Amino acid sequence: MASEILQSSRSAETAPFISSPHLITRFASNRSAPELYVYLFEEGSSRLRNLLGGKGADLAEMVSLGLPVPSGMTITTEACNHYSANNREFPEGLDDEISVKMKVLESKTERAFGDQTKPLLVSVRSGAPISMPGMMDTVLNLGLNDVTTRGLIQLTQNERFAYDAYRRFIQMFGKVVLGAEAQKFESIISKHKDRLSIKSDLDLDAKTLAEISQEFKKLIHDETGRDFPQDPNVQLRMAVAAVFDSWNGHRARIYRQANKIPESLGTAVNIQTMVFGNLGTDSGTGVCFTRNPSTGDRKLYGEFLINAQGEDIVAGIRTPAPITELEQGMPSVFKQLTDICVVLERHFKDMQDIEFTVERSRFYLLQTRSAKRTARASVKVAVDMVREGLLSSEEAVLRVQPSQIEQLLHPQVDPNYEGHPIATGLPASPGAATGKVIFDTDEAQCLAAAGEAVILVREETTPEDIHGMIGAKGVLTSRGGMTSHAAVVARGMGKPAVVGCEQIKVDPVAEIFLTRRVIVKKNDIVTIDGTTGQVMLGVVPTISPRLSSDAKELLSWADGIRRLGVRANADTPEGTGAAREFGAEGIGLCRTERMFNAQDRLPIVQEMILSATDEERARALSKLQPLQKEDFKGIFRTMNGLPVTIRLLDLPLHEFLPKYEDLVGEITALREKGASDSLASKERVLRKVMALTEHNPMLGHRGCRLALSHPEIYEMQVRAIFEAAIELKDEGIHVHVEIMLPLVGEANEIRFLRGRIADVASKMVKSQREIDFKIGTMIEVPRAALTAGEIAQYADFFSFGTNDLTQATFAYSRDDAEAKFLKDYLERGILPANPFEVLDRKGVGELMRIAVTNGRKTNPQLIVGICGEHGGEPSSVEFCHELGLNYVSCSPYRVPVARIVAAQAVAREKVTSEENK
Ligand code: PEP
Ligand code: MG
Repeated sequence: MASEILQSSRSAETAPFISSPHLITRFASNRSAPELYVYLFEEGSSRLRNLLGGKGADLAEMVSLGLPVPSGMTITTEACNHYSANNREFPEGLDDEISVKMKVLESKTERAFGDQTKPLLVSVRSGAPISMPGMMDTVLNLGLNDVTTRGLIQLTQNERFAYDAYRRFIQMFGKVVLGAEAQKFESIISKHKDRLSIKSDLDLDAKTLAEISQEFKKLIHDETGRDFPQDPNVQLRMAVAAVFDSWNGHRARIYRQANKIPESLGTAVNIQTMVFGNLGTDSGTGVCFTRNPSTGDRKLYGEFLINAQGEDIVAGIRTPAPITELEQGMPSVFKQLTDICVVLERHFKDMQDIEFTVERSRFYLLQTRSAKRTARASVKVAVDMVREGLLSSEEAVLRVQPSQIEQLLHPQVDPNYEGHPIATGLPASPGAATGKVIFDTDEAQCLAAAGEAVILVREETTPEDIHGMIGAKGVLTSRGGMTSHAAVVARGMGKPAVVGCEQIKVDPVAEIFLTRRVIVKKNDIVTIDGTTGQVMLGVVPTISPRLSSDAKELLSWADGIRRLGVRANADTPEGTGAAREFGAEGIGLCRTERMFNAQDRLPIVQEMILSATDEERARALSKLQPLQKEDFKGIFRTMNGLPVTIRLLDLPLHEFLPKYEDLVGEITALREKGASDSLASKERVLRKVMALTEHNPMLGHRGCRLALSHPEIYEMQVRAIFEAAIELKDEGIHVHVEIMLPLVGEANEIRFLRGRIADVASKMVKSQREIDFKIGTMIEVPRAALTAGEIAQYADFFSFGTNDLTQATFAYSRDDAEAKFLKDYLERGILPANPFEVLDRKGVGELMRIAVTNGRKTNPQLIVGICGEHGGEPSSVEFCHELGLNYVSCSPYRVPVARIVAAQAVAREKVTSEENK
């Protein structure tokens, strides 16, 4: 089959290739590299992608495969860059090279450029190294003039076709190269159609098209003051320059900025012999994906138009037919197309998106490129290609982008939706959610319990809002960053969230939020898209997620490849259950303060904080202990046998008490009423709140510092952990617990607390069966990283708390920086990325490197992980792999992403080491 294709293409290109050694020598002596500014397709290859652009490199590859590609050449990106840097001057020698290679084209096609009997026509198209679809210019049918049009009539015996080609060329050249206004050409066509009372361009006859061509030329003269050039060589030079210019056009610049494509790349220009799909009913043009780009199914997917040129498909004037219909209409062409798709996939080892033309029953391939596809298709194609023997499992794992895995797990706003957002904030937790706007947390919970879909809208959330967040379909806040409470909690729950949306003003009293243009009231319906950060009015169509069996298979290959472990951050049995389902190998962070905040605990926690004596405090703690034990049992049970890292209380105590302002308001009201009993108790709470209030609570009396002042809190937690473990052991459930201390910055802190924990443990397990436990610390204070060698004397493990470590390293408040100045920093290029999202390798990463090296020097058995939000962000996971961490821990819904990224890091290392051999 492949040989058939080879045969057909060879016979199409009978003329020998005329080499031009003199040119090569001349340029070799003038410039170091490259030696040429112009490559015939047969001289190129995919290795020259930077020089020939994606389109040029792929055309070269197709020619080397013997596929039926119309002859052509590629002008390099280097020529474009020279042109841009030298006042729009062509580099010396470029004109000569083009004309020598045009002679080759003439000889291969047995036509001549500008010839009055057998005219050669070419297309001139852009083609950058990174695809920028539709952003730059194209000119088709170049080479036509008043004389060659008559030659084309002789050659094709089709007068209408020739005049149609001529008017299309003048129109495109006038618009793209000479800058005449597009609409004016259309007005001329409309005028003729009205005069003749016809609707379609297809009904314009040859005579009218000839008249239109004349009018177009006049229009160009009147509009631009320049004549439409009759000399094909002048046309070609001007068209090449126009494509070079389009690299710096407005559209292209904006696209490059948005997609971070370097300005320095430049575009290549492809000059290719024209073939015509509009020569009658035995001709046509089409586009075709080698597989379905939406589902990944292995079936050709595309459309074609009989008797049409490529631009007709794009213009949407006529409705194309599905590609499968080609099988009936042109069976041999369909067979050739099918065979070529197989050859292309085998060669490029990827699904392709091709453009083709059939000229009088003869098939030509005009373009191929790696096909854009949905996340679902991406996974299916990668897995199928392994089964078909096209890819190794490592290559398949590299084929799927981490963001596509993430997309699979969350409902998405339908990509075809065309509505506009009313505001945009930070995309904190991916997925789409629609519901009634509700401002009050309790109300959100009640409505959710009654089955209503609710979007909880707050200025920011606090641990007290947790029940409303659990009930809500999604969360929208006007303040806070990517590691704010709302963001972290929503990600943990796999719930969509848009945070730090400063374009909205939330008024919880009036129960409205405002944008510059809209007022959104309580109960209005909104949709939030946590993947893009957009907020939209009303119900927006979504598509729902599913982890397909293909995705599971791909992830299992990833598990076989990666070295980095993947755990999850979760603090409820539901969360740990989701973590296991998504393939977590343990819990890397169970935050216990969420348990303190649960509605049935908060009054006891407050009682503990407000205790006047040690006895009172002990009584409150003993009430909390059985509740904590049940919490831990639920988690240990779902994780049966897998490691669970429990972090002891981190938050400062005032977080569990009512707000100062609220208390003052309540006390004033009680005073007015004269309710003295409740007044006294409120005043007592207020005094405690005032005593606990700090100027910098983030740097305050929290974490291990609080535990050193009140060791009994941690002791209660540790007893609850061991009681839970012992009881479960009797049920046959194995517990592997790692007890973690927050905010350690000095070795003595962990030394002292480790001693207290070990005492409690020894009392509880000495007469009973052994419980498998470790004691370790978070590394989230820069001093802890710098003194990790000392700290490691007392730690079985380290876990990087990169949320706090980033905050402390930059001295940026993790709650305020993103909303205040980080956006501006990013726009102005002061920082390359938000450091709360993408781990800062230079600063925070360097502290991590020091901690890993020195920690392991002291304790070679030290287990090192990360549990900050960066543990699920692809580039940060890759960095953790490079640092040699034992595991990353992230929210359950990001676990599959981390599994893929960790495997990709290994696969990439392998590819690089093979390339270096
Ligand atoms: C951290 O600081 O990175 C961390 C995981 O702890 P928290 O976010 O709870 O402060
Ligand atoms: Mg922390």
